[in-house]
Amino acid sequence: YENFSNGVLWPLFHYLTDKLQTDVWENWTTYAEVNQRFAEMAAEKYRPGDSVWIHDYQLALVPVLLRQLVPDAKIGFFLHIPFPSSDVFRILPWRTEILEGMLGADLVGFHTYSYVRHFSRSLNLILRLDVDNDLVHYSNRDVRLGVFPMGIDTGRFTSLASSKEVIQETESLRRKNEGHKLLVGIDRLDYTKGLPRRMLAIDRLLTRAPELRGKIRFIQVVVPSRTNVESYKSYRQELDEMVGRINGEHATLDSVPINYLYTSVSEIQLVALYKAADVMLVNPLRDGMNLVAKEFVASRTDGDGVLVLSEFAGAASELAEAVLVNPYDSDGTASMIQQALSMRESERRARMQALRRRVTSYDSYRWADAFLHALAQSGREIVPESQRPSPPELIGRLSETLRKAKPLVLLLDYDGTLVPYANSPLLAAPDPDLIELLEQLAAQSGTTVHIMSGRSPEIMDQWFAELPIGLDAEHGFWFKSGPGAAWTPLREQSSEWKDTVLPILEDYAAATPGALIEEKTAAFSWHYRMADPEFGDRKSAELIRTLGEVAPEHAIEVIPGKKVIEVRMRDVHKGVIVSRVLKGFEGEDPVILGMGDHRTDEDLFAALPPGCCSVHVGPRPSRAEYRLADPSAARAFLRSILSTN
Ligand code: UDP
Repeated sequence: YENFSNGVLWPLFHYLTDKLQTDVWENWTTYAEVNQRFAEMAAEKYRPGDSVWIHDYQLALVPVLLRQLVPDAKIGFFLHIPFPSSDVFRILPWRTEILEGMLGADLVGFHTYSYVRHFSRSLNLILRLDVDNDLVHYSNRDVRLGVFPMGIDTGRFTSLASSKEVIQETESLRRKNEGHKLLVGIDRLDYTKGLPRRMLAIDRLLTRAPELRGKIRFIQVVVPSRTNVESYKSYRQELDEMVGRINGEHATLDSVPINYLYTSVSEIQLVALYKAADVMLVNPLRDGMNLVAKEFVASRTDGDGVLVLSEFAGAASELAEAVLVNPYDSDGTASMIQQALSMRESERRARMQALRRRVTSYDSYRWADAFLHALAQSGREIVPESQRPSPPELIGRLSETLRKAKPLVLLLDYDGTLVPYANSPLLAAPDPDLIELLEQLAAQSGTTVHIMSGRSPEIMDQWFAELPIGLDAEHGFWFKSGPGAAWTPLREQSSEWKDTVLPILEDYAAATPGALIEEKTAAFSWHYRMADPEFGDRKSAELIRTLGEVAPEHAIEVIPGKKVIEVRMRDVHKGVIVSRVLKGFEGEDPVILGMGDHRTDEDLFAALPPGCCSVHVGPRPSRAEYRLADPSAARAFLRSILSTN
């Protein structure tokens, strides 16, 4: 709580990187351990059908840890503080762990849309995940992101505001400060609350408008907080000195401008302060939501009072009728306070009426209901039935059929099917396990194995030349029957289309840092996996439009894939592999298994004769009969058809 949570995550998520306590960074282990204990305890209490709602940055790993213990639990996570811009977030050495931790939930909630955007962008840049319509597909689950601006118990504040005790306390406050306009601030002692800058704004105001001396009083309640965290101790000292200096400078014989209280207050005093205020000052440097602002509004049953609110508080995204200020601009804030002090009653009331409508209509009960309702709707069922992995029994039966089938032909796509996508195409080389599996499959009597790929013959030779398997490169344009055989092309091709297309691809690659071109005989691939995900998407959409203009004239096809655009000669596709393979089995009737993950594999599935089996790997729409979750499920399936099983 005091070290990793409040010494690292708290300042970082509030953009105050100078407050990061580097000496407590090793406390990550403790943070992870504590999260583990919370997860274990929740798992112990969990009963099937329960929902688990996990709160805030101190427990960001609990969603994934609990998911490991109770895979089917319905888990919600709500972050009560801001989620920072990805450029700030990625300073954290444990950024991956925190993101993966939160993604253990079915629903991740934030106060504002801007926090959702920052989170999405971090997922984009750090985990390379795409967020589509606030939905992230991760680890075979769908995680929903949502905006739930937290409300307060408005009813409680409204009824307290009209209680006898509060009315008496309010009158007493007004009496004691007679002749003064009252400014009020109520905050925990926290460097995110912008207290020194608020004091500076008061200083500027009184310097600029000395006639206000003796006419205004600023009551600032500072509630002690996190007193064991070093940065909080020094912050208190800074504030104390500042208040002393400003009071010394602007006091009159019978009045000091700042009435500074380092204490907590009772609920009665709190609401009385809200009610007595002419102007409420809420100007944090950064705040997830800020409830004080909403409590002030809820307490103003008289419909009067002005709220001066920082545009960096989450509440500002809802409370547009407040006087919004940039807390870093103390001069600007001083001017806005001056405006607030002299605002006409009709304007004060009009603004307060609108603010009250918002605060009363979305209170803490509605907030909780909205989150729990969204949580109930979230989860696996968001993936359409037709895109979920096939039931294990069905896959089991298929594997049994294939185990007995003779002759059997396995047409296996490579990237995304047998290996996961890598950042750079050249990094996706086959691992020893895969080579062994392919050897075992090829060694089965009556079994022929083909690897099909969009890649070049050279790369395929480099990886598979020694294996007794058929190779189909460049989506079937090139074919090779086995080790030592020559590559044969589907047909002769002209290079005229390439002279048009290559310069276009080069221009776009130059304008998109991280993009690269892969040249093949009958195709080009324009890869942008390494580019900034957002910018890459934008430039690729532009490129597709540009290529679309030259496509008809040159008989080419443009095929968007996963972070790659393929430009290839028309009529060269994986479907041609099927007819070529069948030619080799004259008079026989082999069973063919086609396996793939990509749009280009759909051509193969479409060309398979009746009685053959198509398996799609991954969560995308496909015409395939069977579906497997990912490359590791695909490998397990292939292992299951080995006759030794
Ligand atoms: N508050 C309190 N004791 C006090 C004064 C205020 O508990 O002496 C409450 C206040 O009513 C509000 C909360 O502290 O509900 C502060 O919440 P906010 O979102 O404004 O800031 P946080 O402290 O969560 O950063």
